[in-house]
Amino acid sequence: MTDESPSPTDPDLPPADGRVVLVTGGSRGIGMACARWFLAHGDRVAVTSRSGVTEDEAAPGPDRFLSLACDVTVQAQVDAAFAAVEEAWGPVEVLVANAGVTRDTLVLRMSEDAWSEVIDTNLTGVFRVAKRALAKMIRLRRGRVIMVSSVGAFIGSVGQANYAASKAGLVGMARSMAREVASRSITVNVVAPGLVETNMLAALGEEHMRAFEAQVPLGRVARPEEIAEAVGFLASDGAGYVTGAVLPVDGGLAMGM
Ligand code: NDP
Repeated sequence: MTDESPSPTDPDLPPADGRVVLVTGGSRGIGMACARWFLAHGDRVAVTSRSGVTEDEAAPGPDRFLSLACDVTVQAQVDAAFAAVEEAWGPVEVLVANAGVTRDTLVLRMSEDAWSEVIDTNLTGVFRVAKRALAKMIRLRRGRVIMVSSVGAFIGSVGQANYAASKAGLVGMARSMAREVASRSITVNVVAPGLVETNMLAALGEEHMRAFEAQVPLGRVARPEEIAEAVGFLASDGAGYVTGAVLPVDGGLAMGM
C-alpha cells in the first residue's frame, strides 16, 4: 500500500457494508421494489410507511433492513424515523422519497380536504423528509435524493388535479434543492413513472387501466422493478453528474413533454 492509497477507514469512502438508504412508502409497490434493488446491491435499507409493516416476506434482518412506522405528514414521526436509522447505521446517504396517495375526483367535486391531504403527503411530505436528509448529507458532503413523481405531472389526468399538482410541484422543488446542495456533491433528481402495476393502479379499476394502457407506446404497464432500476441508476456512481433531472419511465406515454 502506497502513502496515497485510501485507508479502509477513509471517511470519504462509502462504508464497506453498504450505503444507508431510506425509502419512504417502502412497504409495498414501487417503494418495496426500490428497497429490494438497494438490498441486492449491498446497501442497508430502511423502509417507512404509516403502518410500519412491510409486505416483503423475504426482507433480511435488522442488520441490513428496518421497517419503520412514519407518516410523512407528521414532522415528529419523520424526525423519529431518521433518528432511529441514524442510531442503527448512521446518516442516510440515499433518500428515495416515494410515499404517495391519491384521492381522485373531478375538480368541481374535489373537497379542500381531498386537495390538502394529497398535497400534504405527496409534496410537503417530500419536503419534510428531504430537508431532514439534506441536513446530514451536507455535513457528509455526499448524498443522493430521488423523488418519485408521475407522468401525470406533465400530461395531467382527469380526476387528479390534486395529484398532478403535487407531482408537478416536486420538479420545481427538486431543481431548487439541487442548486442549493450541488456544491456539496449531493444530487437531487426526479423519476416520473407512467402506469405501474401496484395497488395504486389497481384502484383505477380494470376498464380504466386498459384504456390508459392502450395509450402507452410500449403497449403495457410497467413492473415496479422497472421503476426501481431508474431509481437505482440515479443513486449509482454512474449518475454522479446528473442533478436536477427528470427521468421518465413511462413506456413513452409523455415523450417530448
Ligand atoms: P402503493 O399505494 O402501492 O404504495 C404507497 C406507499 O406509500 C405505501 O408503502 C404506503 O404505506 C405509503 N404511504 C402512503 N401514505 C403515506 C404517508 N402519509 N406516510 C408514509 N407513507 C405513506 O403505491 P405505488 O407503489 O404505486 O406508488 C409509489 C409512488 O409512485 C407514489 O408516490 C405514486 O404517486 C407514484 N406513482 C405510482 C404510479 C402507479 O401507476 N402505481 C404511477 C406514477 C407514480 P401505508 O399505506 O402503510 O402508509
